Amino acid sequence: MFNLILFGPPGAGKGTQAIKIAEKFGWKHISTGDILRAEVSQGTPLGLKVKAVMEAGHLVSDELLIEIMESVFVNNTTVTGFVLDGFPRTQKQAQELDQMLSTHGQKVSMVLALEVNEEELVKRLLKRAQDQGRKDDTEEVIKNRLVQYHHHTKPLIDYYKNKNLYTEVFGEGTIDQIFEQLCTVIKP
Ligand code: AMP
Repeated sequence: MFNLILFGPPGAGKGTQAIKIAEKFGWKHISTGDILRAEVSQGTPLGLKVKAVMEAGHLVSDELLIEIMESVFVNNTTVTGFVLDGFPRTQKQAQELDQMLSTHGQKVSMVLALEVNEEELVKRLLKRAQDQGRKDDTEEVIKNRLVQYHHHTKPLIDYYKNKNLYTEVFGEGTIDQIFEQLCTVIKP
């Protein structure tokens, strides 16, 4: 079982690359952002709870994310690997993930980070706002999301470096160039 965390700031291209990696290696792509957006668009009680938080570019509570991930693991017992995209995003989530995996005799296999400079990130996020109409891709909200990343998520780099699990790949260039770089460092 290969548990890959695709790491990086919003706009780094995690979603695009996670889909391609999952397809190539036959693993399950889990995007917590997609899961949450589906709840919002279906108007479920969970969706109603998180809608405003997401639209403001803030982080949904660790408790909710951990519940979501527990059900992901319970419902996917036969897969050969996961590509986690957008989770973990806080120290607490990272610790809980380790805990969840260890109860199944597993661990994080690798943390692969996409490195993109901040100017390029904002440019990409604004373009995505035009193309996909995501409510959390307005300039104001983008700023918030980057602040959340720097404050809560970036410290995870050290968390995983200390465990010797962290690898960085340059996340600029064409989708295929970046994908090729990622594939050279993934060793299932
Ligand atoms: P994403 O599509 O990964 O950029 O996620 C969109 C939004 O969903 C984020 O800005 C958060 O509001 C929420 N979200 C997704 N994943 C997480 C997470 N692991 N922890 C907290 N909030 C999350």
